[in-house]
Amino acid sequence: MRLSQRITTLSPDGDGWDLFYRARAMVRAGQPVTELTIGEPDTRTDPVILDAMARSAAGGHTGYADVPGIPALRAAIAARTEARTGVPTTPDQVIVTSGGQAALFAAHMAALDPGDRALHIEPYYTTYPGTIRATGGVPVAVKTRPETGFQPTAADLDAAAAGARTLLVNTPNNPTGAVYSRATCEAIAATAKRHDLTVISDEVYDTQVWQGEHLSPRALPGMVERTMVIGSMSKIYAMTGSRIGWIIAPETAIARLISLSLNTTYGVPGFVQDAALFALEQGDRLAAQVAAPFRRRRELAVGMLSQQQALTAMPPSGAMYMMLDVRATGLDGAAFADLLLDRHGIAVMPGASFGRAAAGQIRVALTVPDDRFATAFATLCDVAAG
Ligand code: PLP
Repeated sequence: MRLSQRITTLSPDGDGWDLFYRARAMVRAGQPVTELTIGEPDTRTDPVILDAMARSAAGGHTGYADVPGIPALRAAIAARTEARTGVPTTPDQVIVTSGGQAALFAAHMAALDPGDRALHIEPYYTTYPGTIRATGGVPVAVKTRPETGFQPTAADLDAAAAGARTLLVNTPNNPTGAVYSRATCEAIAATAKRHDLTVISDEVYDTQVWQGEHLSPRALPGMVERTMVIGSMSKIYAMTGSRIGWIIAPETAIARLISLSLNTTYGVPGFVQDAALFALEQGDRLAAQVAAPFRRRRELAVGMLSQQQALTAMPPSGAMYMMLDVRATGLDGAAFADLLLDRHGIAVMPGASFGRAAAGQIRVALTVPDDRFATAFATLCDVAAG
């Protein structure tokens, strides 16, 4: 079949998940593998949320649902946003999407014309460049460094911004664990205003903060009109498989996004929306339960790292990952990850999956039960020590 250039060039370097696929194949073949790759909470969706979903489906909410999102859920997401950021937010500024990923696609689709430059920060979540290309945009990476805590600097943002249309940022950050400081958010806002950029702020880990405070760039002066916030139930409520998230944006943008949704996904299942509404109505309780194990494992890993010299790392301030610099072992991230998987049955992501600048790193997900995590992390430290 003849395919479009756009779709055949989405991920010119592959999708970055080769090691993950290899580890999954080993698991299917019955080999013991500790998977510290994908950002999938090891806790299941809470039974009370599943009950709400089952009640909704049994009660007949199985037909087409409102394409923008059911009114009660849009209202709950607006109220959550307002409560967490202090920024007045109305239900008309919310659209419910099929997870954060569909929201990222829709936001870029709404902001970019074909050929437009679209900034994103490196290291980046693996799908970012492909998502931008899928909408016809041209991804431009703004590199960050461990020495500056993987926070983008005002100078680097400004240098890349001329002629760009969008700036995609992610705090708390996957893969680095950085939580953007007020100064970083101010630099983002200043660059956006100076160069007339739309900021797409991916905040899907906003309840998973271990150090500092989550600040949304939308909460800074003059930013409501130029920011689209991406949210998701996936990570914060362990609902990855339910595929539900949202975009917060100015009402005029939401009207266009509803039209896009009408012409693409046709909304999110009503019973999934009812379950999300139920979860949000429980306040912070359920999200706190999902976050607690990541905090524990972060502490565990930080403690073990302090006992050795072969690995250097910035203790993550948020999200469910940790980046480790493995260069002192004489290997790059890919070779170290291969060694860990092939000899020790431990799967981690090579840093290059998140951009070439991270080639000397590996990303460890904090997503297996504490005892298995501790054993795997101790092995990882031993392997690094040689
Ligand atoms: N954004 C970031 C930074 C992520 O890490 C992920 C998933 O790993 C997503 C968005 C997409 O998540 P979902 O589509 O499940 O909401």
